[in-house]
Amino acid sequence: MPSVHPTQTPTPTQPSARPTVPQLDAVVVGAGFSGLYQLYRLRELGLSVRVIEACDDIGGTWHRNRYPGARCDVESASYSYSFSPDLDQEWEWSERYATQPELLRYLHHVADRFGLRADITLRTRVTRAVYDEDDHLWQIVTDTGETLTTRFVVLATGCMSAVKEPDIPGAAAFEGRALHTADWPHEGVDLTGKRVAVIGTGCSGVQAIPLLAEQAAAVTVFQRTPVYALPAHNRPLSAEENAELKARYPQFRIAQRQSRGGTVFEPPTRSALEADDAERTAAYAAGWESGLLSGLLRTYNDILVDAAANETVAEFVRSKIRTIVTDPGTAETLSPRGLPYGTKRPCLDTGYYATYNKPHVSVVDLSKTPIVGITPSGISTSERDHTVDVIVFATGFDAMTGSQVAIDIVGKGGTTLQEKWAEGPRNHLGLLSSGFPNLFTVIGPLSPSVLSNAVVAIEQHVEWITDCIAHLRESDLTEIDATAEAEEEWCAHVAELAGLTLYPAVASWYTGANVPGKPRVFLAYTGGLDRYRARCDAAALDGYRGFTLAPPSDAR
Ligand code: NAP
Repeated sequence: MPSVHPTQTPTPTQPSARPTVPQLDAVVVGAGFSGLYQLYRLRELGLSVRVIEACDDIGGTWHRNRYPGARCDVESASYSYSFSPDLDQEWEWSERYATQPELLRYLHHVADRFGLRADITLRTRVTRAVYDEDDHLWQIVTDTGETLTTRFVVLATGCMSAVKEPDIPGAAAFEGRALHTADWPHEGVDLTGKRVAVIGTGCSGVQAIPLLAEQAAAVTVFQRTPVYALPAHNRPLSAEENAELKARYPQFRIAQRQSRGGTVFEPPTRSALEADDAERTAAYAAGWESGLLSGLLRTYNDILVDAAANETVAEFVRSKIRTIVTDPGTAETLSPRGLPYGTKRPCLDTGYYATYNKPHVSVVDLSKTPIVGITPSGISTSERDHTVDVIVFATGFDAMTGSQVAIDIVGKGGTTLQEKWAEGPRNHLGLLSSGFPNLFTVIGPLSPSVLSNAVVAIEQHVEWITDCIAHLRESDLTEIDATAEAEEEWCAHVAELAGLTLYPAVASWYTGANVPGKPRVFLAYTGGLDRYRARCDAAALDGYRGFTLAPPSDAR
């Protein structure tokens, strides 16, 4: 297999010239947690790899989401790479839940420590990818006018990178400052003395609102659906805690990889309905106090599958909101009703509910008085006009599929990924979509991704993809594609498992319902990362069952 030296920049070819020798072995799209690790692994195989990143620096989600309060809601020790014991020993987390700047520093450290930057091209967006069926090569086109040929493509484009533009009439007419949490100015924003509107109360809004309220003269939150938020109980990590963490890292990393969701705990075995009120309340209180995102889900085994069991925990959270928020009307407005706990992603907060006790913070219940439109001076609801200086859109993402269908990907027979996924994403094991050979996805749709600790899920995908590419090269094969039958089976299996839970009935980004016109499909695998890992490993061990592997055209 010809190989360009990793630090050598290949010269572009004309799109019309059909090469039989690729300029690169692999192109990785995106330089976040996924892309950096994929680069590291593929370079270990001796491949020529180029990472192409649209942003002006590495870091992916942690580069872009710089809104005040942005921090991870999985514990830092857990939400970090496990592939390098040395990295574990040398990096020191300062807080239980790392802030966005600290996570970004970590990713920069990783890029420097492993010499990754030389193979990353920044400020360049992949706009098109076309598969050459004869040569088993992808032609990659970028917005800088470059065209590259490569054998393999890895979409490391992230689950939450396609920002959902505000679907509110008049948004462009606003004469104040409009900001999106996922595209926060790097230089920061001074909100002192400003009247700030926040639209959206998902995890981004919940993290941002308390900090916005510390600065702004007035904060008005426009809430369409109330959220379930648990206190993070974040705190600095002491030197002793870091030392203890480092001592147990080797065992901890193994346990993480074997776990159901990438965090280590004993899965519950009892139904919430088997317990009496006092026992349940005690269990939920412990979950609430744990400061863990899954603290309440760890209590009983049927919270996400049984509506009555779920209602017990939902009511527990509402009771907590009533305790924290002093005005009963505001507490009720902030209390989710008719929304099963956990079916929209819960949030970890620091002072979210208590912020509404401040006299300059208020909430507008859009379920009663919907937004009519955005005006030059603010936001108009069915009840009244709200004049503001700044609107913060915390309105989320075209999750899971948005970053992939944004690229014009043309597979076998000239079919585009957009066409193929018109009714929802289709692939085998969340890894390859039939008809789009050698195009792998890291933590994309129909894999455990967003239902697990993302970094653990990323490492599992990257390692499977790397082993797969190594196998192809060792066997002198140049193409892997998912079979249509295996794909059909996998999509049905994912849908069947999701159908056993309360998730699919709820309009959320998990189901694609947050984006107008997006097909309604449950987008993640609910069976657990451990079972998923076992299935992926079994397929590979069984000669890549469910996939077709092909030799180069001149060997056929
Ligand atoms: P999100 O969960 O999709 O929340 C978007 C919010 O905007 C919702 O409250 C939504 O209301 C509201 N909204 C959207 N369009 C609206 C409109 N036209 N009018 C009024 N309200 C509107 O987005 P997100 O908060 O950015 O979070 C997305 C995901 O990113 C999270 O679930 C999580 O997985 C990840 N995330 C993680 C962290 C972390 O680790 N700490 C932090 C932030 C985000 P409806 O609910 O009614 O649609």
